[in-house]
Amino acid sequence: MRTRPVSFINGALMPADHAIRHTKIIFTLGPATESEEMLEKLIRAGADIVRLNMAHANHEWTRAVIRRIRAVSQRVGRDIAVLMDIKGPEIRTGDLSVPIELKPGEIFDFTVKPGAVRQAAEEIRSVDVNYQGLVNDIKVGDTVLVDNGLLRLEVLAKDEAHIRCRVLVPGQLSSRRHINLPGVKVSLPAFTEKDRADATVGLEEGIDFLALSFVREAADVALLRTFLEEKRSRVRIIAKIEDRSAITNLDEIVAASDGLMVARGDLGIECAFEELPVIQRRAINACLSQGRPVIVATHMLESMITQPVPTRAEITDVANAVYELADCVMLSGETTIGKYPLECVQMLDKIARRIEIEDSSGAREPAVFTDERMKVLNAAVVLANQLPRSRLVTFTRRGFMAGGLAALRPANAPILAFTPSPEVFRHLRLLRAVEPYLMPFAVSPDATIENAILLLTRAGTIAPGDKLIVASDIVSLDRLVASVQLRTVQ
Ligand code: PGA
Ligand code: MN
Repeated sequence: MRTRPVSFINGALMPADHAIRHTKIIFTLGPATESEEMLEKLIRAGADIVRLNMAHANHEWTRAVIRRIRAVSQRVGRDIAVLMDIKGPEIRTGDLSVPIELKPGEIFDFTVKPGAVRQAAEEIRSVDVNYQGLVNDIKVGDTVLVDNGLLRLEVLAKDEAHIRCRVLVPGQLSSRRHINLPGVKVSLPAFTEKDRADATVGLEEGIDFLALSFVREAADVALLRTFLEEKRSRVRIIAKIEDRSAITNLDEIVAASDGLMVARGDLGIECAFEELPVIQRRAINACLSQGRPVIVATHMLESMITQPVPTRAEITDVANAVYELADCVMLSGETTIGKYPLECVQMLDKIARRIEIEDSSGAREPAVFTDERMKVLNAAVVLANQLPRSRLVTFTRRGFMAGGLAALRPANAPILAFTPSPEVFRHLRLLRAVEPYLMPFAVSPDATIENAILLLTRAGTIAPGDKLIVASDIVSLDRLVASVQLRTVQ
């Protein structure tokens, strides 16, 4: 049984040791949030990671905003992490001088070789597509979805330059719209020339995470891994799962990456909509059982793009991600173009804190770890779950110890993770329940622990009577020792 001490704070039910929010908040940067003033507000409101969507960013802007984020973080005294989201194998329609109003039943062409001679060109309207190989990947009878699935067409015929379709669901087609092809295996490279150029800029500016869009198999992640190794970078890889092949290859993708993003925007188009909650839960559980962090993304507070309060369904959706024990919840349009970006971050904060008090221990089967260090960490978490007012304290040079504890999902105790590395410090922003502290390690492990306790006492994070469960993994007398010790704060 888990004990959950509860008291009333500001009229809300809060457990005594719940000053630290466990679920992390990611927001996407855009016109609504790129100013220094707004960045400062969002960092102070508790945002943990800022995402740059490279589908809508040039390099000059990217460099400028990363430097701005770092400057504001430093001024505020709260260093947040930067996640660059590269667009991967994305298919888009070309430019149109005026939007085309597609009619029901209309015959319409997608042109992959601009300028090629077209049959019945006088009667049939068309738009260019940025990917020539599409004619090889697609078959007669396949479905083409355009602009977030708003327009639906069926393939009637094709030659090497054109794909002729019939409009099933009509609507307006404007420039540069995203195309989805449910169930079609697209042979575009997973890591494109544009991705490489974007990632290079990101590495030069010191980003912390790279999210690769439309990951279809583990080999896609491996391509990015090789690129990062060549650049001697320790940037962490987030695999975005967005289509059916990613679901088929879920476990191997989780194993190959450093974290997963459940990209519900595209998943909701590529898969039957009623599958979406099932996929989300399966993806989170796959990450929990392999000890990988997981982000739930897209449409979490969509109505707040224009309204100051969310719908009841959105509140419940955010709550569900917290109950499912996701590491992070993410904002997209809400903070790029929305009218209420600060309110959105505050809303996620409020919902997460409330739901985290509830017992989510039924959310998963406890993972079985064969690794010895994980067994030691598991002992620490079991102890934390049994002791009121407990906090896990750990020391982590590469993030392994903190990552291991986070993967075990302590019910109530936050994980206070000390690292001497600014890089690792920012990587820890992704992990559920982990509160990172930057601190140089002393020569003796005992002195390092004493320094940490002093720092926590001064910060007011711990108080007399609190139980500290110190999980460390240190080389002592030339032997690697993993230990758990229990201390009561004096
Ligand atoms: P996007 O990815 O915002 O880059 O499209 C997220 C999603 O598809 O949900
Ligand atoms: Mn997407």
